[in-house]
Amino acid sequence: MLRIESADHDKCCGCTACVSVCGTHALQMEPDAYGFSYPRIDNDLCVGCGRCTRVCPTMAADAQRDLKLQQCMHSVVALASDPTELVTSTSGGMASVLARTFIRQLRGVVYGASAADPYHVRHVRIDCEDQVSQLKGSKYVQSDMEGIIPQIKMDLKDCRNVLFVGTPCQCAGVQLCFPNHGGRLWLVDFVCHGVPSQQMLNDAYKELGVDVGSVAFRRKDAGGKSEYGLFLRDKEGRLCYEGLYGYDRYITSFLKGLNYRESCYNCRFANHRRASDITLGDYWNPDGKYSHLPGSRFGLSQVHANSEHGEALLNIAAEAYHSEQIPISKLLAHSEQLRKPITPHPESQLFFSTYMQGKSFIESCDTALEPFFRRYPFYRLKCALRQLPRLVWDYVHAVPQFFKKNTP
Ligand SMILES: Cc1cc2nc3c(=O)[nH]c(=O)nc-3n(C[C@H](O)[C@H](O)[C@H](O)COP(=O)(O)OP(=O)(O)OC[C@H]3O[C@@H](n4cnc5c(N)ncnc54)[C@H](O)[C@@H]3O)c2cc1C
Ligand code: SF4
Ligand code: SF4
Ligand code: SF4
Repeated sequence: MLRIESADHDKCCGCTACVSVCGTHALQMEPDAYGFSYPRIDNDLCVGCGRCTRVCPTMAADAQRDLKLQQCMHSVVALASDPTELVTSTSGGMASVLARTFIRQLRGVVYGASAADPYHVRHVRIDCEDQVSQLKGSKYVQSDMEGIIPQIKMDLKDCRNVLFVGTPCQCAGVQLCFPNHGGRLWLVDFVCHGVPSQQMLNDAYKELGVDVGSVAFRRKDAGGKSEYGLFLRDKEGRLCYEGLYGYDRYITSFLKGLNYRESCYNCRFANHRRASDITLGDYWNPDGKYSHLPGSRFGLSQVHANSEHGEALLNIAAEAYHSEQIPISKLLAHSEQLRKPITPHPESQLFFSTYMQGKSFIESCDTALEPFFRRYPFYRLKCALRQLPRLVWDYVHAVPQFFKKNTP
């Protein structure tokens, strides 16, 4: 009998496609000890119809055959032309540009990840422009998809246009659930290096002693520089904790690939063949070639059109963003996760075993990354000292020029 017996932990990405199509409610998502959810089967309810295996993007051979993976047709570096959109987004604001265009011009509905409840990041449905801000920003944690695929089904049945934004594996699950959407479903994914669990994030909040009202993982400073960190506000909106990469345990463990879902380390979607119509990602402009794009210092996105369907949506949105072509080869060199899954941190196993033994999240990060956290402040100091001669030089040259300018 073909069915999702028990999910293979190194493959199952938790997309919930199997649970969503099971007509007898024989499958339910249940968290493991690390907080990652997997489907569990109730044998008494299962009738062996095999629907679950036909939509599983990672474990079922049939579904993997049916999954349409497309190569990028063309790629651009892009950013929102609205400065507010740009500065409030993670990179170039292209996810919001697409969501807004979709609602305004196609009268569609958009699904994306919301951290309105910072203790439960989940996918939500929006259908008016005022709600786009809910989806804004990368949440570096797994977003709960429970109940989303049935909602998409209802929207498609009502002949609505649907835009789904999510991880590549979530897009793959959604694609397999709706093979005949009649051109009304658009899938947008992003370059993805992996996800920790909500349980780990909630543990981090608790250990920091913060009652969290909102969470962010990236911010842009006044000069536009993007910083990775854990930024927590209380229920009154006051900033009550900020921890940057190198100091905060949650964001550091995330960026070091210490504590992801097991499937992320074997991700079959970490390459340039995508299940989505459009792929987004950060673009760091390493050679400064795209600095002439207006507002570029506040962030740039890479955008891949993987299908004509995706290309059509980008054309509809064209007035809302600035862009310039970039060869795909350059993006493949820029973004490792367009070529291969992330390599687990060498101390990943140590983190998971420590966490499993009941040690706190922060303690488990400290155990695994102890040498790094010890050395990091010295590394920062060394960087600052290295910059010192340049600062002194700039100062020494600025003073005579100041007097020259201001002497009548
Ligand atoms: C877990 C994760 C890992 C990432 N890894 C990389 C990477 O390795 N390299 C890279 O170039 N870019 C990565 N990104 C993408 C990057 O952070 C930006 O989202 C991307 O550059 C688009 O930026 P933006 O300004 O257009 O949109 P943003 O304002 O960032 O909007 C992001 C969109 O993604 C959706 N989203 C946010 N969080 C989640 C989530 N947890 N699960 C599903 N959907 C979500 C939201 O609905 C929103 O529509 C990652 C994003 C996430 C969430
Ligand atoms: S085989 Fe059918 S009934 Fe059984 S779990 Fe899968 S979808 Fe549900
Ligand atoms: S990958 Fe998705 S469809 Fe497959 S078993 Fe896991 S949750 Fe179900
Ligand atoms: S790395 Fe792969 S498996 Fe993990 S969340 Fe991203 S797309 Fe899914």
